[in-house]
Amino acid sequence: MPEMMKAYRIVEWERPPQLTEAPVPEPGPGEVVVRVAGNGLCHSDVGMTQMPGSIAEMIGWRAPFTLGHEVGGHVAMVGAGVVGFAEGDAVAVVSPHSCGTCRWCVSGRDCLCDDSMVGRGYGIDGGLARYVLVSSTRELIRLDGLDPLHAGPLTDAGSTSMHAVKRALHRIPPGGNAVVIGAGGLGAFAIQFLRELTSARIIAVDRSANRLAYARELGAATVMEGVTEDTAGDIGRLTGGGADAVFDFVGIDSTIAAGLRSTGRGGAYALVGAANGTLRGADWFSALPKDGEVFTFQASNIADALDVFALADAGRLQIDIDVFPLDRVAEAYEQMEAGELRGRAVVVPD
Ligand code: NAD
Ligand code: ZN
Repeated sequence: MPEMMKAYRIVEWERPPQLTEAPVPEPGPGEVVVRVAGNGLCHSDVGMTQMPGSIAEMIGWRAPFTLGHEVGGHVAMVGAGVVGFAEGDAVAVVSPHSCGTCRWCVSGRDCLCDDSMVGRGYGIDGGLARYVLVSSTRELIRLDGLDPLHAGPLTDAGSTSMHAVKRALHRIPPGGNAVVIGAGGLGAFAIQFLRELTSARIIAVDRSANRLAYARELGAATVMEGVTEDTAGDIGRLTGGGADAVFDFVGIDSTIAAGLRSTGRGGAYALVGAANGTLRGADWFSALPKDGEVFTFQASNIADALDVFALADAGRLQIDIDVFPLDRVAEAYEQMEAGELRGRAVVVPD
């Protein structure tokens, strides 16, 4: 019998996840087991637990598996042949999984790898447990002084929003305007990357007054409560014709519609929120930005994560976390959904 550990798992599709047990992983050749210091909670986890089982199976996700795709921790065990990492090393685990050898991976576009749909915390065992198995050292980022407890959120909330901001950077002129819809976990990082990488005026839109106050603290010059009929008009007036970049971290019909209408000539609209809203080109043709850019994507490349960790190491990022023990993980998700958290929820296994 393998040794068991407490783990928060999707046991059956369309049922709430359960705090149950999973086997302690053992590293095979080239693999590493990380002792989790903290795992950040992502809104995608909630979407996953509410997803129809038929779709999950189609993606390739097989229950049961342990949730959690934002891991910081220490190397606990190394498999045969592992070089460069040893027990005790402080690491973060990159959130998207990739093979490392396909044409996408070798050209630095690993988020397009065939293997990227199934990874730790989405389809295979993730970080909401004491240990997590990492299949290759290329998925580890060595920490240079950063506390592993704070590192997890950088791997997805940080890296995914970095990917979005980098894709739109060339559309944002000096002194331009950038809008962040949904100033939650991802949005809070996007605001900081815009602050660090551009001179744009940052406009944050959220339904939660708490989140807007936090957005201001991070660098948003203007905040707007809720997405309403007036949002696009207000942004249009404020920016003199629309924003240079709009990042939608909500992704429902109303935010997509308002986001597209808020995007100015030559601007970019990025759909990041995975809430199943409809991006309707034809109907919105008249509302699409002239010579604009509309893009969507999944996750980030390892290079995006390295950029985020470089900014953190340079002391340029505020990383706020709300720590929960594994026993209170369900409550942490509830607080995230209610918009009550200040930082990213980070769960510490015992
Ligand atoms: P979060 O819960 O931390 O943040 C969401 C924010 O949006 C909250 O501040 C909330 O108050 C706000 N909000 C919700 N509905 C709103 C509305 N109608 N109008 C205005 N504001 C609203 O979530 P998160 O972890 O930051 O994730 C954000 C989204 O990004 C989720 O949909 C998640 O699934 C998705 N995501 C996508 C990728 C990707 O690769 N594309 C990766 C990670 C997460
Ligand atoms: Zn995520």
